[in-house]
This record gives sequence, C-alpha cells and structure tokens, in this order.
Amino acid sequence: TAIDFHGKTIVITGAAGDIGFATAQYLGHLGARIGLLDLDPEKTQAAAKTLTQQGITNAYFIADVTNPEQVKNAIDHLSHTLGPIHGLFNNAGYQGHFSPTHTYPLDDFNRVMHINVTGAFTVMSAIARHMITHGGGAIVNTASMAAVGGPPNMIAYATSKAALIGMTQTASKDLAPYQIRVNAISPAYMGPGFMWTRQVELQAAAGSQYFDACPDNVAEQMIQSIPMRRYGHINEIVGAVAFLLSDTSSYITGVNLPISGG
Ligand code: NAD
Repeated sequence: TAIDFHGKTIVITGAAGDIGFATAQYLGHLGARIGLLDLDPEKTQAAAKTLTQQGITNAYFIADVTNPEQVKNAIDHLSHTLGPIHGLFNNAGYQGHFSPTHTYPLDDFNRVMHINVTGAFTVMSAIARHMITHGGGAIVNTASMAAVGGPPNMIAYATSKAALIGMTQTASKDLAPYQIRVNAISPAYMGPGFMWTRQVELQAAAGSQYFDACPDNVAEQMIQSIPMRRYGHINEIVGAVAFLLSDTSSYITGVNLPISGG
C-alpha cells in the first residue's frame, strides 16, 4: 500500500531548519498532523504558518531538546493538541566548529555532544514513554555520513553522529517489545542551504591539507568525492524519512540508511 499518514501525528525536532521543515511539508502532504519542536521562535512560527497555509494540521512548541522539562511539556502540548504521537523525526542538530583535533575547543565539543547526543536521547526516551502508553510507533534519528566517513576538522560532529548510530541500534532492541521501531538516516553532502554553505566556507578557512583555501574549490573537491558527482537535495531525504516512519517499513528496525550519492 502507498505511504499514508492520515490520522497520524508526527513530531519533528529541528523542525524550523532546512531538513526538518522540508520533511514537515512532505509528511503533511501525505496526511500527517505535524508537531513542530524547535528552539528558534521566529523560524518555528513562520514554519507553522506556512504549513497552515498549505492546509496541513499542525502545532508547535518552542523547546530546547537538551532540557527534559521543556521536552516533556512539548510532548504534552503537542499530543494534547494533535492526538497521540505515532512518529518522531529526531532531527535537531548542531554542526560545531571546524578545526583539527589538537586545537578543537572543548567547550564546543561538549556543546555538540550535548545537543546532538544528549538532546536526541532526551527526546527519544520521552517520546518512547509516550508511545509505549499508546501502542507503539516509529522513530527516525538524523545521524550523518560524518559518523563513518571521518571528515577532517569535525571531531565533535563525527563523534556525536557515530553515537547516534549506536543509540539507534540499542534503542531498536530496547523498544522492539513495545512495537516501536527505531532507525537512522545518514545524509552526506546536502545542498543548497545553510549547512552546505557553512561547511564549505569553514573547511576552506580551517587550513588543512584536505581542502583548498578557496570555498569554490572546496565545493568542487566535495562534489568530486561523491560517486554521483552532485550534492543531494533535501527533497531526497524526505522520502526516506517517510518510508522509515510509515508502515511500509514495518519489519525494518535498527537500520542506518545512508543518503549519500554512493
Ligand atoms: P539547520 O541548521 O537548518 O536546522 C537545525 C534546526 O535545529 C534549527 O532550526 C535549530 O534551531 C534547531 N536546533 C538546534 N539546536 C536545538 C536545540 N537544542 N533544541 C531544539 N532545536 C534545536 O540544519 P539541517 O541541515 O536542517 O540539519 C538537520 C539535521 O540533519 C541535523 O541533525 C544535522 O546534523 C543533520 N545533517 C545535516 C546535513 C546537511 O548537509 N544539511 C548532513 C547530514 C546530517
């Protein structure tokens, strides 16, 4: 059967960002009621307004994924407004600084780990408690090819996303008895957008042997490293998320799906 989310509520964290908002629109057009969770009030309100204009039922809650009380309040509010939560796109993230391992700032390392790892765990465990009382659900965590590719100058980000893959595998086992599936997606170079531009500029500025000092050349170097010779478009992520959140993937759990052009 075709993917259909009518009657289902899906919560998206980092919902005001590029990937989160594109996914919100895609899942919304497939019938889902969308609960937006993000830290940024203006961007989130604008995202909610756009969804409403597109006829997509939605609600939003401004929360920091690293704050358990705010996360609990968000789940209470969104499930009260939209109905029990069937799906979670656990997607909020922060890319961190760009500098080599021996000069990488500890405070930023801790910040990346706190948002990407502790934050993802906080949301996932709270939503799992909610889903257990409502008969199950599906969770998709946003990891990254950085988890396995060893990108230079991104020690904190690579470490945090590798942790997310481990988290996905263990959670899939812990939550299988409760009819909750947990999978991950690992996008690689995606564009255009904030993260693409930022990483091209910061890799150029980092002054390593791996990338040129000129951002245009860095962009070209990155593209040349991809078998399909182009970056991925965000619209090439949303279908994978829909698949993993839908009943179409009902026997798939604990998987990390690369979205990387090869
Ligand atoms: P983005 O910066 O556009 O969006 C991230 C969103 O997360 C923002 O709206 C931000 O406000 C929100 N956020 C950050 N910290 C938060 C917190 N503590 N609590 C709540 N919300 C918070 O980035 P994006 O490209 O949409 O990235 C989304 C996810 O995809 C991230 O986990 C990122 O690491 C991952 N990813 C992105 C790429 C890429 O190239 N764009 C590649 C691989 C993985």
